[in-house]
Amino acid sequence: MTSMVFSECSTSTASRLLPRSLRKDAVVLVRRLSLPRRSCAWMAPLSRRTLAVGAAAPTSPPPSASVAIEACAKVIDGKYVAKQIRDEISAEVSRMKEAIGVVPGLAVILVGDRKDSATYVRNKKKACESVGINSFEVHLPEDSEEEDVLKFISGFNDDPSVHGILVQLPLPSHMNEQGILNAVTLEKDVDGFHPLNIGRLAMRGREPLFVPCTPKGCIELLHRYGIGIKGKRAVVIGRSNIVGMPAALLLQREDATISIVHSRTQNPEEIVREADIIIAAVGQANMVRGTWIKPGAVIIDVGINPVEDSKSSRGYKLVGDVCYEEACKVASAITPVPGGVGPMTIAMLLSNTLTSAKRAHNFQ
Ligand code: NAP
Repeated sequence: MTSMVFSECSTSTASRLLPRSLRKDAVVLVRRLSLPRRSCAWMAPLSRRTLAVGAAAPTSPPPSASVAIEACAKVIDGKYVAKQIRDEISAEVSRMKEAIGVVPGLAVILVGDRKDSATYVRNKKKACESVGINSFEVHLPEDSEEEDVLKFISGFNDDPSVHGILVQLPLPSHMNEQGILNAVTLEKDVDGFHPLNIGRLAMRGREPLFVPCTPKGCIELLHRYGIGIKGKRAVVIGRSNIVGMPAALLLQREDATISIVHSRTQNPEEIVREADIIIAAVGQANMVRGTWIKPGAVIIDVGINPVEDSKSSRGYKLVGDVCYEEACKVASAITPVPGGVGPMTIAMLLSNTLTSAKRAHNFQ
């Protein structure tokens, strides 16, 4: 029997984590449906305001004798910023096409029939179309041989109309993921997962050709909202190769002082409480409670966790790794789930593809 985990966030919201077996489908379905809870004020990116990290969360309106006013974090609007970035990319793609007749191209290889993977690939294709990037898709059956995937990667590596190659993960268990990802040429590794790109990210004085899209999106949100990183204490919760670890490396490159919290960390709340900036990438619904957060901290919540919700017509909703209702009362700014980091990931993939095409054709 699949176990169900209670994940209570606040006294008013008791959510229940869905069993792992149902999560993938739930993410796909709920993504189409839900809008974020917008209990806090939405915050304009840098063009309209600048936020001092560590500042007390702004309150509004002025307190009266009879009404208790709670501090409320500003919402970092990833959906809005991602749209801005897509518009910028679209303009650059047109400029490049007009100037040198080149259109950036992204190839996506999907193996197997996972519904969530098929949805992600479809979304990437749509996103490419929306900014004028060409997309090429290969869909191989679940029982394909590793050699079949390698053959397509090799073809795309040699194809000058393809500037980015993405292998949709996870691959079927009989395939060697590492060997397949390593086969993508460094110059087209728009996911940024190639060990040489990660290695360069980790080394001072070296520049990766590409940075993984989700952590890059987290940092881009901080930049676009004018949130200072240099000299700040940052805690990254999670150390996966695709999110937590590169997010920590990126923050370090920006001169933050980093701690990484993982499943074996003792007293995680004490470490998190020291942070001016928190990036949570765990995959545990509402794990970070209000009491873990230093007043005025900035929170980037990467987690996407479907939890039961009897009020939703589908029976579930998406929540992050941070208890949003509680965090809103302590933090100075926070990304919602959904509508925070999620839309930034695809925007960064498009950005990496454009960068790759510009680099290949020496187009400034
Ligand atoms: P992952 O590979 O499962 O890694 C999870 C990390 O969290 C691991 O490093 C793990 O520690 C750590 N962890 C697990 N339980 C913990 C606990 N109780 N306390 C402290 N650390 C704990 O997950 P991922 O791929 O990085 O994804 C993380 C979350 O981000 C998921 O919800 C995923 O859906 C979401 N995500 C969102 C996007 C987006 O575009 N918004 C993109 C990718 C992922 P160990 O290393 O010790 O096991």
